[in-house]
Amino acid sequence: MSEFAFELALCAHLEGHREGIVARQLGGSVADPGGRILDIVCVEPGPEFADRVALTADAIPGAAIESAVGPGRARYWKDAFDCHRERARRAIDDAIDAGFFERERRNGREYVRQVARYPDWVDRLVAIENKPDLGRPGDLDRQLRTDVSLGLVDVAILATESYVTRAHLHRLPDAVGVWRVHRTDRGDAVTEIEVVREPTSLAVAEPGIEPLAVQPGQTDVAVVSPEAKARMRRRLAERAYGKGWRTYAFPGCRSCEPESVSGSDRESVPAAVSETDRTDGATLPYCAWKGGVVDARSTCGPSCPGYEAADRPAIDFEAERARRTPWDPDPEGERRQQSGLDRFT
Ligand code: SF4
Repeated sequence: MSEFAFELALCAHLEGHREGIVARQLGGSVADPGGRILDIVCVEPGPEFADRVALTADAIPGAAIESAVGPGRARYWKDAFDCHRERARRAIDDAIDAGFFERERRNGREYVRQVARYPDWVDRLVAIENKPDLGRPGDLDRQLRTDVSLGLVDVAILATESYVTRAHLHRLPDAVGVWRVHRTDRGDAVTEIEVVREPTSLAVAEPGIEPLAVQPGQTDVAVVSPEAKARMRRRLAERAYGKGWRTYAFPGCRSCEPESVSGSDRESVPAAVSETDRTDGATLPYCAWKGGVVDARSTCGPSCPGYEAADRPAIDFEAERARRTPWDPDPEGERRQQSGLDRFT
């Protein structure tokens, strides 16, 4: 049972059935960056979600949002950042590339300002841990206990295909919700999500406890302040916005049959058809030889017995994301910036 295929099918389903942003494989710790990777993150939209969509298609760097650079008067960049110079420079350049900052020069000095106020666009962050087979739980217990004690996300949910027994539920932290996910026989599309247990909201506004190194008989922990969590929540939401969940690849192999899935619907999509002829689903890398969705980066290549070299299918992920979600690859904010620049050329 491939966790990768399960994850992509679930992302495609959530994208087709929920408001907001779906992303996968994002850092979910604060004190130990990279110490916890969240499988799926759903960002539920807040009151100014449309303003965020109109601002930029990319992630806005956290240091730029947290700086004293505002939308009114432009500020000398060195006066506006309370962090290392290099980090500030990187944040400014990335914020300008993203279309969130604009810069001007006065007397040989660089001044920056926000093109628009940063909007209040996030309501809840939902983290989903995928464990299709509960018979092989791996590190599940530690991961979910970290999510609950840290309280970085609003709710944590376990998604599985296994039958969930009372014993399983007893072992999981009480606040964690549980979904039993049903898929098609080919495993490429979700047909139903059965809510076995609803999640309870986590204490995002309280200090959190993040487990660090675990040694026999001892676990080092960090106490994480609500302010540090709030910063990380914003960064997590921004990364989710910029990255989405289509970070997988299609193999250059004849056996790969890109497949369009949307909830319980599924249709084969020949690699040769044009983008406009494709169905309205999310396109996944289905392998006919293997009989499932494959992770091209880790499993495909000449060492696979079914491999037959072919052109890589040309799938336009940006166009697909734009068609299926509110995300806009060419938003009004960037267009306004562009026409503003035209005045000087
Ligand atoms: S798993 Fe093997 S046969 Fe299938 S697409 Fe990848 S390389 Fe080709």
